[in-house]
Amino acid sequence: MNLILFGAPGAGKGTQANYIAKKFNLYQLSTGDILRNEIKNKTETGKKIEKIINQGDFVTDNIINELLKKIITSSSCKNRIIFDGYPRNITQAENLELILNADNQSINFIFFLKVNRETIEKRILGRITCEKCNKIFNEYLDSIEIEKHECGNNFLKKRKDDNEEALIIRYDEYMKKTKPVLDFYSSRSYFHEIDGSQKIQAITNKIEQILVV
Ligand code: AMP
Repeated sequence: MNLILFGAPGAGKGTQANYIAKKFNLYQLSTGDILRNEIKNKTETGKKIEKIINQGDFVTDNIINELLKKIITSSSCKNRIIFDGYPRNITQAENLELILNADNQSINFIFFLKVNRETIEKRILGRITCEKCNKIFNEYLDSIEIEKHECGNNFLKKRKDDNEEALIIRYDEYMKKTKPVLDFYSSRSYFHEIDGSQKIQAITNKIEQILVV
């Protein structure tokens, strides 16, 4: 099965994708993580996109589509992908359909995590991510979990685009370009809206209930 986690920055897509991928042995395809790796590894693409990402703008569709096509159709990921942060505009949504159709794959579930602006801000400004296992914490809310984290604290990093200035642009990009993708998908029978302001475990449970039916 392939599924899409959809929602604004900070809606909890990465957190849920991480849990669901482990539980159902799926591949978490986070375009944000792929792009950050390009920057970390100082590739040609990484050099081109660093500034764009840090200020909160979108990377061009060409770069995204180029990076994704190989992964989506690879034998190890095929039919077991959680899309996290993609598609982010209508062109990407149409492109995804083309890639999947040509490869005899489809989207089986879409989960829209609905969260208000205030919650998003709290989550993003407190977010820290373990660079080793990709687990996400909130530095203000999860002090006990952070202390006990199995990878230790050395890999915990704050993202460069998790600041108030970049958030304004990221949220604006979401409203202008990503939100229209909701209309593209929302009438489909496998589209599910979930209250993303609930506790992490409650959201995971809800997604699991739908996946196992
Ligand atoms: P994320 O980790 O999903 O919050 O993404 C971080 C940043 O990576 C975004 O603010 C964009 O700059 C870039 N990015 C991630 N996914 C996409 C995408 N599908 N299309 C364009 N830019 C993207």
